[in-house]
Amino acid sequence: MMNSREWMERAVTRIPGGVNSPVRAWNNVGMTPKFIDRADGPYIYDVEGNKYIDYICSWGPMILGHNNSEVREAVIDACGKGLSYGAPTPGEVDIAEFICSHIPHVEMIRMVNSGTEAVMSAIRIARGFTGRSKIVKFAGNYHGHSDALLVDAGSGLMTQGIPGSAGVPEGCTKDTLSAVYNDANSVAALFEANKGEIACVIVEPVGANMGVVPPKDGFLQTLRKLCDENGALLIFDEVITGFRLAFGGAAEYFGVCPDLVTYGKIIGGGMPVGAYGGRKDVMKLVAPLGPVYQAGTLSGNPVAMAAGYAQLTLLKSNPSFYRQLTEKGEKLYGGMEEILKKNSVKATINYIGSLGSVFFTEKKVENYEDAKTSDTAAFADYFRFMLEQGIHLAPSQFEAMFLSVAHTDAEIQQTLDSFSGYFGG
Ligand code: PMP
Repeated sequence: MMNSREWMERAVTRIPGGVNSPVRAWNNVGMTPKFIDRADGPYIYDVEGNKYIDYICSWGPMILGHNNSEVREAVIDACGKGLSYGAPTPGEVDIAEFICSHIPHVEMIRMVNSGTEAVMSAIRIARGFTGRSKIVKFAGNYHGHSDALLVDAGSGLMTQGIPGSAGVPEGCTKDTLSAVYNDANSVAALFEANKGEIACVIVEPVGANMGVVPPKDGFLQTLRKLCDENGALLIFDEVITGFRLAFGGAAEYFGVCPDLVTYGKIIGGGMPVGAYGGRKDVMKLVAPLGPVYQAGTLSGNPVAMAAGYAQLTLLKSNPSFYRQLTEKGEKLYGGMEEILKKNSVKATINYIGSLGSVFFTEKKVENYEDAKTSDTAAFADYFRFMLEQGIHLAPSQFEAMFLSVAHTDAEIQQTLDSFSGYFGG
């Protein structure tokens, strides 16, 4: 049987960097990535048969843990009826109604195939609705890899130290204005300097692509106010936070109502799905109802809808689910914080609910510039140690840790013991 190194040797000759998404390459932590064979509950297994406690959870969607039996059965049932028709199906209506009936600010929703597509489409409709071109995003927020949004973006660009992407013509980013996360004054200044020209403000309501950076008190509320005062739409990119912080995402958690919202992977339960939705008067502009064009051959794919619907109904049917996730987060990240304190380690922990990050910096991390003060070599050393201990973390200082309900006290304790082992406790 081939090991991960041998798979990587084959992969790099035919796939750029050997991977289909850059952060997976592990080049920044100086390692060959583990090739994965299977996953179950809180565990992931590489092709060598090693078992790890997984804190990537497919970058979010495995909120129920890997290989959930009900989601799996729903997928198998759907597969029995054929994989795709390119025509409407009852499953699409079920999931749209389910989301809209439980999330008040989502009056209409359109399914797409990724978070990137969801955001790209939401921006287009915000421009179509307002008749304006400029958009505001925040440095360190990541909204997928569409041309207009690769400006001061977090995630893989931050990991690889890339300020923007080659191949994006200047014209594509000239209307993208970059603001400072957690600094509403920076947004007010952009509105002032671009009066009547800004279509929307798009924000990760909890920054999760520069490591985890929660919003300061009042930040999201002030964005809402500024958008209202200036006739711009507020878009929450809830690809990470939707159905995770609360069923209604960060909007529900913080009590701030966006005009539009974008969702991603969690809606698909592990299948490639994204969605955008929100105010009916805005969503009515989408073709074929209105003049904003957006389409997709595989959008609303019946197998993906079955997986998503099974996952969302499970999330909604268990009233203690979000409390459990928060308690697990408190145990894990609160426990890590204690260990750092006890050992006088100069590092910072940010966490909220089931999302958390350890930053190798003394600085409080409230924005992109703060996050960039982290010692990425120190992070890489920590990553390698944890992996040896059987803990599978995101291979970057600038990504989140994701907990699922399948992580029990035993896995959390084992993780804390390893953490303590690294920091000398
Ligand atoms: N928005 C946010 C907040 C994300 O975290 C991501 C990816 N993690 C995206 C958009 C893009 O989603 P996708 O990778 O599915 O295109």
